[in-house]
Amino acid sequence: MKTIRSTADLAIFGASPAFVEPLHVGRPNLGDKEALLRYTAEIYDRRWLTNNGPLVQELESRIAARLGVKHCVAMCNGTVALEIAVRALGLEGEVIIPSYTFIATAHALHWQAITPVFADVDPDTHNLDPDAVRRMITPRTSGIIGVHLWGRPAPTDALQQIADEHGLQLMFDAAHGFDCSHQGKKLGNFGRCEVLSFHATKVFNTFEGGAVVTNDDELAEAIRLMRNFGFAGYDNVIHPGTNGKMPEINAAMGLVNMDALGEFVCANDRCHSQYFAALAGVPGLTVLPYDRDNDPNYQYVVVEVGDDSAVSRDEILAALHAENILARKYFWPGCHGMQPYRDLFPHARLVLPNTIRVAERVIVLPTGPTLSEVAIDTVAAVINQRMAAA
Ligand SMILES: *Cc1c(COP(=O)(O)O)cnc(C)c1O
Repeated sequence: MKTIRSTADLAIFGASPAFVEPLHVGRPNLGDKEALLRYTAEIYDRRWLTNNGPLVQELESRIAARLGVKHCVAMCNGTVALEIAVRALGLEGEVIIPSYTFIATAHALHWQAITPVFADVDPDTHNLDPDAVRRMITPRTSGIIGVHLWGRPAPTDALQQIADEHGLQLMFDAAHGFDCSHQGKKLGNFGRCEVLSFHATKVFNTFEGGAVVTNDDELAEAIRLMRNFGFAGYDNVIHPGTNGKMPEINAAMGLVNMDALGEFVCANDRCHSQYFAALAGVPGLTVLPYDRDNDPNYQYVVVEVGDDSAVSRDEILAALHAENILARKYFWPGCHGMQPYRDLFPHARLVLPNTIRVAERVIVLPTGPTLSEVAIDTVAAVINQRMAAA
């Protein structure tokens, strides 16, 4: 395999982009196609397409066992799972969340007439800063949603302590953290419940999908009812609810991808290590590290462009895009800068200096099982070349 080791090797750039097919962030991880086709045939033969089918039940048991959590309630997507969890916890008034997260964390609240209140993040971890959370508590606050950003655990102990002191509910958006650990337990075991996303771009996907996981029997029961219009058997509606059900075909994809999860994570780990080594010496750039003790899924290769960088984040992005390397800003400019929150809270930015800094510095690079060693070398070479040209 030809490896790009120096700028001299970069003669291939310039006339045409380095990649004919663009390299994407969030390219889906796919397990065995034949296995999915076998499940599909089974679904046809059974004529059971949705409504808590056998494949959904099997997927729920496998996820619960894998995460060491009592209940897994599979859903049509992570956003509806968030909405249902928020309802099941009885959240109202104001709920504190980070602004540096995917917009669904905020929308799941606003959609239910709950006010998301944005607290600042720790610039090193990109996760909620507990002191910032404390500063945002008001008499209307009913809960906190921590986000395990990039799959790196949020400060669960500090947040639990704040929740306990103030009588607040605590739950987590674990959309990035599937199969990751914290304090010797899998994510999914913290707060009153945690929400997973199985969207196509996540490390583990069911095309679209999500789940609420919890160790609380009563909460799980309420969430199961709410997922299916509140039905407790034919003709008997005993609870408010919505349609959050996962179809069988999605569960089939989940079962197939579950078997391949080890390979996906292994490939992600390989990519992350290679990027880490290739960009280690570049002044002004930091590849965010993962802690091996926490079983990271390495789904996000996050590069931070520091103040000491000779080239701006956007200039590096432009150089990558010119070579068909579709690296991305992520969660920029923060939820507080997006609608309707920008108009609702025009002054939110004044208490979010770290969020703004981080959002302006981050680049997420392509990764995953389809990325070859040469591809990663090339991505790193494009970055190195752009930095050297400054
Ligand atoms: C992906 C994601 C969601 C939403 O999940 P969907 O399954 O796409 O609805 C929520 N929060 C975070 C942090 C996410 O990354």
